[in-house]
Amino acid sequence: MDGGPPSRTWAEVDLAAVRHNVSALKRRGGVPLMAVVKADAYGHGAVPVARAALEAGADSLAVVTAGEGAELREAGIGAPILVFTDLSSDGLLAARQHRLAVTAHSAESARRIAAVKGLAAHLKVNTGMNRWGVEPSEVGEARKTLKGRLAGVYTHFSSADSDASETRRQIGRLDAVLADQPLGGLTVHAANSAALLWHPESRYDLARPGIAIYGLHPKGDEGDPAEEGLRPAMTLKSYVAGIRRLLPGEGVSYGLTYRTEVPTFAATVPVGYAEGYRRGLSGRGHALIRGARRPLLGRVTMDACVFGVDDGVEVGDEVVLVGEQGDEKVSAEELGRLAGTINYEITTGINPRRVERSYTDVRGS
Ligand SMILES: *Cc1c(COP(=O)(O)O)cnc(C)c1O
Repeated sequence: MDGGPPSRTWAEVDLAAVRHNVSALKRRGGVPLMAVVKADAYGHGAVPVARAALEAGADSLAVVTAGEGAELREAGIGAPILVFTDLSSDGLLAARQHRLAVTAHSAESARRIAAVKGLAAHLKVNTGMNRWGVEPSEVGEARKTLKGRLAGVYTHFSSADSDASETRRQIGRLDAVLADQPLGGLTVHAANSAALLWHPESRYDLARPGIAIYGLHPKGDEGDPAEEGLRPAMTLKSYVAGIRRLLPGEGVSYGLTYRTEVPTFAATVPVGYAEGYRRGLSGRGHALIRGARRPLLGRVTMDACVFGVDDGVEVGDEVVLVGEQGDEKVSAEELGRLAGTINYEITTGINPRRVERSYTDVRGS
């Protein structure tokens, strides 16, 4: 944290990896790229990631709240920014002030947007996800409401990582809307990371990858990003704060759910669920210490965990919780799978009040 003592656990974000991923995705997609940096760039830090993405050829950015867009503007970022979801009336005014394009996702939201002079909008169409978006039958009316404000038309896929025929069905519904409408000058877009990678027919006029620009796999809890030419940008690190030697039959952490069967060296590491290291990893996760995978013993607590080590490990040794060390790797996909979630929630859940982020390979400034 600014000026405070060093964090107990920190995240190193490799901006060269972000740039690599963005340019690889842009080449693969062959269309302009809107880098999705919502939720503080999926926990990686919005401003440095947005800058790196733009340096590598991203054409625009996307966020979810007006505040996220304002943060980028206040850092001096001038690229086009689209806000994906619903904004209150105050949010719409803030969007105008910061030159953010907004999304009309219902006939009603189109009317509210039309009432704020000078706001540009993209119209989101519901093609089957049933979360946001106007129904295809309402597109004509929403277009009329927005008139010259409308800059784009888009949809979002429910299953681009898992169900090709559903993705084709959604593309078909979008195509039917487009065939019905005069679209001169409007940017049409649909592809998230999974669609950009695996559904070329979904790319239209631009692609909107999020997870892949961080070098994470769009399937969330399986898959190796390297197979898609992606490089994970985040390494989550901590250190060995203490070591004790346990006798057979001793328990570890709350509830003593882990019990030693043989004499065991137990290393205490200052990371817990308050950092975003999920409690669902209790008894299942691994961390890397001195180049080897070390099992998590017992429960993850709010502020610390205990890993089983050997007598070569010393207080102060580096601990890699997510990332590589030597020849070993713990991926965000692995932690997602073990914790019953996905890589998206692992990195987005890292608490910036507890976990300081540092950046390697910063350009410019
Ligand atoms: C989050 C989001 C994306 C990016 O999705 P990824 O799966 O991270 O690539 C694209 N479009 C919309 C509308 C989103 O909300």
